[in-house]
Amino acid sequence: MVITRFAPSPTGELHIGGARTALFNYLYSKNQNGKFLLRIEDTDKERSKKIYEDQIINSLNWLGINFDDKAFYQSKNIQKHIDIAEKLYENNFAYKCYCTQDELDKKRETAKSNNINYLYDGTCRELKENRDLPYVIRLKVEKNKKITLYDGVQGNIEIDTNTIEDFILLRSDNTPTYNLSAAVDDNLMNITHVIRGDDHKINALKQILIFQYMKWKIPKYFHVPLIHSENGKKLSKRDNASTTEDYKKIGILPVALRNYLLRLGWSYKDKEIFSDEESIKYFNLKNIGKSPSKLDFERIKSLNEFYIKNLDEKILIENFILYTKFYKKNLDSNSIDIITKNINILKNKAKTLEDIYVNSSFIFDYQQIKNAVNSKNKTYLNQFLEEIKKLNSYDYEKISNISENIVKKNNIKFKDLGQPLRLILTGLTQAPSIKDIIKILGINEAVNRINYHIN
Ligand code: GLU
Ligand code: ZN
Repeated sequence: MVITRFAPSPTGELHIGGARTALFNYLYSKNQNGKFLLRIEDTDKERSKKIYEDQIINSLNWLGINFDDKAFYQSKNIQKHIDIAEKLYENNFAYKCYCTQDELDKKRETAKSNNINYLYDGTCRELKENRDLPYVIRLKVEKNKKITLYDGVQGNIEIDTNTIEDFILLRSDNTPTYNLSAAVDDNLMNITHVIRGDDHKINALKQILIFQYMKWKIPKYFHVPLIHSENGKKLSKRDNASTTEDYKKIGILPVALRNYLLRLGWSYKDKEIFSDEESIKYFNLKNIGKSPSKLDFERIKSLNEFYIKNLDEKILIENFILYTKFYKKNLDSNSIDIITKNINILKNKAKTLEDIYVNSSFIFDYQQIKNAVNSKNKTYLNQFLEEIKKLNSYDYEKISNISENIVKKNNIKFKDLGQPLRLILTGLTQAPSIKDIIKILGINEAVNRINYHIN
């Protein structure tokens, strides 16, 4: 059975590169009727935070990336990692290194000043006797050999083992390093396919060495090129587009972000829009691209606009209410009612949930505008008021006739009436058409708002 995993370190919010990694792992496992596991890599006590664990899990839920079984916490497994380090040591695949930080720093400095890439020089590799001093455990990397990473995305990557240092498995405080923990856990969790960012290629080689010494079955590796910012640089926090939270807070829908991430570095023919079912059905590993993908913010927004237009309106409203609760304010039930009834109008031209919020703000956040009425427009605003007062309820035809008559009678353009009217009714310069605004507000509220300004 195919078993994949997503293994974030809870040292920050879910990065969109991480979200894409999670999505690919999830989709591949589902495509293969396998399992997708979540492993929280929380062994770094200083930098790991509970709030980030929660944030990562919430973001995955929000995106509809559901993991199987319970989340797996790497910190609970530390003893198993230590046991393996000790086993490697007993079998002479690892050794104790007593070099002090000072000694290592000096060697690193010397290498640097000679322009040589620093690698641990193996001073303690052949030591026979135990010393009563602090030590780390290092893996004994066989010299003068070639090791190949069979990477499903990048092809075979062959490396000379002389370029891999005897890396540390266990620190002097007896804590395991990332490469040890990751290898041990991938084995324990029976991971068959490791799909992750490009930045872990060298780690993969180190992890493979551990697998080989332990005679474990090596998983297949797929290293996905990283996501770059719009100007081609490495995506950083400052781009304000680096975490899923950055998208959520401007009102990007989870389906839109998910669809966007799917197409970022993966393709299926020239298909652009994938339902959840289709993404599971068509996802494969061979179509992952070899070159870095570039973030395209306009593309995310236009996808979001597509989903705002085409999503079931009930689901859209659910997303909208959650969004406002989280990032704006709790709307009263009356406003929610009005927005729900008129969502087909209010979502017009909206690219984000935030746009819908702004479009709707005249309903729950009405600001009276000073100086909207002047001596000139007061005449026809008054005429408009007197006529709509006579209506018992909203009537598209009748309101159209009223406006047309006033425009004709006063020999003005429609915008001479429309602009001040829109301003009075909504407090906004950009808003739906006058007829739609009156429909949304109802005749009574429209009359009140006009009355207030004229008198
Ligand atoms: N915790 C590592 C990271 O966040 C996981 C790498 C891996 O997938 O093995 O980058
Ligand atoms: Zn040493």
